Parts: sequence; structure tokens; C-alpha cells
Amino acid sequence: MAYNDSPSPTRVTKPYYASGAARWTREADMQIPDEGTAARHCVRVVEDYHLLDFSERLNTSSYVNVVFEPEEEKVALMGLKVNLADQTVYPESFRMHNDTINMIAKAWHCPKPDDFDDYGCYAGAGTVGSTEACLLAGLALKFRWRKWYGQKFGKNEDEVRGVYPNLVISTMFQAAWEKLFKYMDIQPRFVPPSYKTFTLDPAKIKDFIDEKTIGVVCIMGNHYGGQYDPVWEVDAMLEKINAEKGLKVGIHVDAASGGFIAPFQEGLPPWDFRLKNVLSISASGHKFGNSCCGTGWVIWRQRKGLSEHVAISVSYLGGSADSYTLNFSRPAQGVYVQFYKFLRLGKKGYATQVANQLAVAQYLRESLEGIKYKGTPIFTILDAVGMSEQKHCLPVVAAMINPDLGLPFDDIDFQHVVAQGHWYVSGYHMSMHHPLTEESMPLFTDQSKDQAMFRIVVKNNLTMRMAAHLMDEINAAVTFLTDHGKGFQHRKPKRLSTQKTVPAC
Ligand SMILES: *Cc1c(COP(=O)(O)O)cnc(C)c1O
Repeated sequence: MAYNDSPSPTRVTKPYYASGAARWTREADMQIPDEGTAARHCVRVVEDYHLLDFSERLNTSSYVNVVFEPEEEKVALMGLKVNLADQTVYPESFRMHNDTINMIAKAWHCPKPDDFDDYGCYAGAGTVGSTEACLLAGLALKFRWRKWYGQKFGKNEDEVRGVYPNLVISTMFQAAWEKLFKYMDIQPRFVPPSYKTFTLDPAKIKDFIDEKTIGVVCIMGNHYGGQYDPVWEVDAMLEKINAEKGLKVGIHVDAASGGFIAPFQEGLPPWDFRLKNVLSISASGHKFGNSCCGTGWVIWRQRKGLSEHVAISVSYLGGSADSYTLNFSRPAQGVYVQFYKFLRLGKKGYATQVANQLAVAQYLRESLEGIKYKGTPIFTILDAVGMSEQKHCLPVVAAMINPDLGLPFDDIDFQHVVAQGHWYVSGYHMSMHHPLTEESMPLFTDQSKDQAMFRIVVKNNLTMRMAAHLMDEINAAVTFLTDHGKGFQHRKPKRLSTQKTVPAC
């Protein structure tokens, strides 16, 4: 690798473009160079990779927070050097973890567990993201169910291990759950919703639940359109089903996105631990929690008979502590930034931020509705506010190009044209990947899996002014497509076959 141009690798004698590093190319057989090179040049190489990505703040596809104050970056760097698994060496960092857990548990109305004083905190854990949190929650449900199943049917542990349990969830599940079904040997029972709601229909779940059901997942803000599963109705329905069938099925709320939106929205029915059958809740700290990427949270109603099944007990400063995570060593930065963010914003700060984001989402929704093709609106709004009588949802706008117009381009073409104005708006098909059969299946009962749609996630960086520019670009894209879009039709099959159809998280 012709990468080093100086006998002293750390002394920069030449500008980057006049150094050997500028001739360095992408090589298929990348290897570690024999010698190091000047720091400034290394930074430049990294910058060149980064520059060619989409700009994070113009990415309306992802839910992950990308805005940090300088103080926050300082806090993150501090946390970068702390291994959170090393509880005896970094007890105060671990205390910060527990303090953060307590703040979240209270925001979600978790009842104080009886053993609170032994641990100084609620049953919960900081994780890498919602995926790890969902996996832990799913495992806890599985082990809880095994105990119950063994007792109910008089089976010993080994016999119960041979029984294949199932989990009920709508087809709007995020790919995190695919991992649970695949890795943890749990059968998925998918309930497809109507595209008119995007939500789990409580009236339908009864047929999916039997004595091998470990739980029902409610998604508080699905990533496709931001709609909330009606946890409050599922809770009431489960109460009946459990009594009727003699079961003890509980709910896990996957609040990856809604966990830090719903507590700050007014007029929302109880969706959290106020509901009796809610056993655990998970959320991504790095989404609307506004921490940095690599932060997730899971809280359990109690340790006994629930989270204890996935905990490794460690002694800690004379007290007890649980280690729940799938990984041991990991940096404390997510915890540091999350804690900082709670102090920095307070409940009022989160509430104002959420109100701002919802207002921007409403502006985008109305602006999209106003774009017409030969007198007819070109976009059909699909999210909860635009579509149904549900009043609450995430700050997300979901829509599709009205299929009745028979236009020769679709939402994926739209994504590509909008991208020319630097904005990333992801289009995708209404299909899902079955984790076990590998089949592509329709998301909805009443839409073809080939129908496309798109979504715009309104994060805190998408301010009203930025959103106005996005709308300019969307208007320009529509004009371009309706004027020149005919050429898209014959190219479509090739492009569609290579198009990623699953939205990012
Ligand atoms: C994003 C998301 C996940 C996965 O979260 P990560 O933090 O990316 O691991 C799980 N469930 C839902 C509903 C999500 O939106």
C-alpha cells in the first residue's frame, strides 16, 4: 500500500493532496498498512468516506438522532473511555445508568418493585438499541412462559424445552423481531392490519393466541407510518382472553420511537405500565430519546418471575446488581448522553420539542395534500393523522402516490428524483420479509405487496425552515416526474428488482 510518504509518519510535511495518501485507492483486498501515517491525513481519508454519504441532517428516512450540542459531544467522549460492564471500577457511571433507568421507569409509570431498595433501581437495562432491548424482553417472556407452561401441563424443564412457543405481533414489526424469531426459536404469529390503520386489531388477536403464546407485542409507533398500536384495547382484550382460555399472556410494548414521544403528548390513553398486562417496555434512546447512536432501554414491571430470567447477578459495592445485556463490555457514552439530555431538556423541553415536530409534520402533510395532478391530489396520506380518526402518532408523514392516477412512476422513482435535491426520503414497498420462510409477504390485508409508499420522519433537525426547502424539492420532483416521467415505465422492472424495499430504522 503506497500510503506513507515520510520517514516520520507522525510529522506532516506535505499537504494531503501532495502526499502518497492522495493516491491511495479503494482496494478489494484492504489490509492494515505496514506503517502509520500523519494524523491529519488519516482524518482526511476518513472525511472523504464520510463526505460521500448522504448528509445525516437531510436524511428523513432514519429515526436516529444526529444533533448534538458541543457540551454533549464532550460528555460522549468522556463516556467513550468508560466500560459500563466494569461496575466495580466505574461504580458511579453505573449509578448514572441506574439513575437514568429510574427516570425512564417513572416516565412510563412503572410501579415500584418490592425489591427496589436492594438494587436502588427498577428492573431494567441500558442496551445498544431497541433490538437488544427487544431480544432481552422476548427472552424474558419466553422463560416466564416456560415456567408457567411446565406447571400447567405437569412437564419438567427438559420437556418444556422441546415445545415451540409463539409470539403475536402485527406485520408492521421492525426487523429487530426477525432476529428474535430466528435466533431464539420463537414462532412468529403475524397479524396483518389494514392499510387504513397500520395497527394491530385487538378483535383479531384471539385466534392467534393459545397455550404456547409467550406474549403479544404492541408497537408504539411503527416505523412505516408512526401509528400507535392501541395497547389500551389490547390490554382489555387480553384480560378477557386470559380469563376465557385460562392463560397468562402479557404484553411487551416496543416503543422504540414512541417511548420518548408518547409521555410528552397530551390526551393519549394509558399505553404503559398503567395497564396491568404490560410486562415490559423497550425504547431506543438514540431515536426520539435524543441520545447518541448505540443507546436503548428496556424496563420490566418486576424482577420476580420476569426479568430475573435474563439476569446474571453480580455483586456491586456490597449490594446487588443485575447484568442483563447480551454483551458485556460496551462504552458508557449512550448512558452519559441520555442522562445529560434528560437534565438539559427536562419534561418541558421534550414536550416543546415534540410539539414542534408534530407541527412540522402537519405542515408537510398539508403541503403534500395540496399538490395536484390535473386537479386531483397526487399524494394519498397514509399516516394516522391524515388517514383515520386516530389523533396521536409519531411525528412522521407517510404517503403514497395515488395509485388511481395510473402515473408511470412510483414512490421509489420519487425518492430518486428528490435525492437530486440532497434530501433523502425513503420509498419502499408494502411488503415484509418472513423471517423463517424467507418469503416476501404483503404488509396489509388490503394492499398489494407491490404497492409502494414513502415516509418522512420529522426529527428535531427538520425545522420548519428546512421542511419548507424539502417541500420545494418535492414540488420540483413532482413537476419533473409528471413532465418527464413517461420514460420511467419501461425501466421500472430492473430498477425495482435492485431497490431496497425495507425502510431504515
Ligand atoms: C427502530 C426500531 C427498532 C430497532 O431499534 P434499534 O434501536 O435500531 O435497534 C425496533 N422496533 C421498532 C418499532 C423500531 O422503530
